[in-house]
Amino acid sequence: MLVALAGGVGAARFLRGLVDVVDPASITAIVNTADDEEFHGLHVSPDLDSVTYTLADAHNHTLGWGLEGETFTVMDALDRYGVPTWFRLGDKDLGTHLFRTQRLRAGVALSAVTAEITAAWGLRTRLLPMTDDTVATRFTVEDAPGGPRRELAMQEWFVRERCAPAIVDVAFVGADAARPAPGLLEALHAAEAIIVCPSNPVISIGPILAVPGIRDVLVARRDRVVGVSPLIGGKPVKGPADKLMGPLGIEVSSVGVAAAYRDFCATLVINHADAADAGRIEALGVRPVVTETLMRDPQVAAALARTTLEAA
Ligand code: GDP
Ligand code: CA
Repeated sequence: MLVALAGGVGAARFLRGLVDVVDPASITAIVNTADDEEFHGLHVSPDLDSVTYTLADAHNHTLGWGLEGETFTVMDALDRYGVPTWFRLGDKDLGTHLFRTQRLRAGVALSAVTAEITAAWGLRTRLLPMTDDTVATRFTVEDAPGGPRRELAMQEWFVRERCAPAIVDVAFVGADAARPAPGLLEALHAAEAIIVCPSNPVISIGPILAVPGIRDVLVARRDRVVGVSPLIGGKPVKGPADKLMGPLGIEVSSVGVAAAYRDFCATLVINHADAADAGRIEALGVRPVVTETLMRDPQVAAALARTTLEAA
C-alpha cells in the first residue's frame, strides 16, 4: 500500500507514471482541496479533477487543465448575461461539477462523492480529499511595495489577476477546524511508502499538512516519506511556486523544498540540473536522489515513479 500527497497537475503527471509501475489499486492519493471554490453555484474541486482526468487519460493536453475535446458553449452563454467567466469551465467538465454539487447538497460527503466520480471514470486508484470540511487558500497581496493590501481567493489571484500582485501572506482558512477525511490517517499509518508528489509546496502540499493530525503521522513515519521536487533548475516547471515560496521565506530551489519538508521527509528526488544542490540538501538531513524529473510523457513519469519507490 502506497500513499501519495497530491496537488493538481504535477501530482497528476507523477501518479499517471506510478500506476504503470505498481498496481493502481494499491495507491491512495490524498488530494488538496484548498483550491475548491464555488463558481455559478457549483462546487469545483480543481485538484481532484486534474488527478481524476489525468489517470483516466481524458485530460486536455493543450490547455493543461480540464477535459480533452472540450467546448465552452455554456461559458459563452453566460457572457450574454454579463456573468464573469474568467474561470473557464468546459461543457463536459461542468457535468462533473453538476454531479458533485447535487451529491453534496444531498448530504453526501466529498470523500464519498469523489469515490463515485472516480468509479465512473474507471479509476482503480483511491483518491481521498484531504478533508470533507471546507478549507480555502486565501492570499494577502500588495499591488505596490508598501501599498494597500487586499485579500484574494486562490483563483482570483491565479487566474483573474494572473499572479500579478505580490504575495504578502498565505492562509488556509478553516484548516484548524478541519478533520482528515475518513480512512486518511489509517492509510498513512499503514503505508509502506509515502510519496510527496511534485506539487506546489505552498498551496498544494501546504494545505494538506495544515489539516490537524496529518503532519504528525508524517513526522512519525519520516523514514518512509520521499518527496519529488517540483522545481527544476531552481524554477517551477509550471505554475506560481516561485512567487509563493520567496515571500514565505522558502528559498526558490530544491534546497528550499528540502528545508520546507525536512521534518517529515527523509529523501528528496531532484533533477540532474540541480545536482549541485545535493550537498546542501544532505546538510539539511535530507537524502538527495538525482534523476530525470521532467515528466514529458507517461514513460518518463513511470521511470521517475520507479526511482522514487526505490528511494523509499
Ligand atoms: P496545480 O494545483 O495544478 O498547480 O498542481 P500541482 O501543485 O500538483 O502542480 C504544480 C507543480 O507541479 C509546479 O510547482 C510544477 O513545477 C510541478 N510540475 C509540473 N510538471 C512537472 C514535471 O514534469 N516535473 C516536476 N518535477 N514538476 C512538475
Ligand atoms: Ca491546484
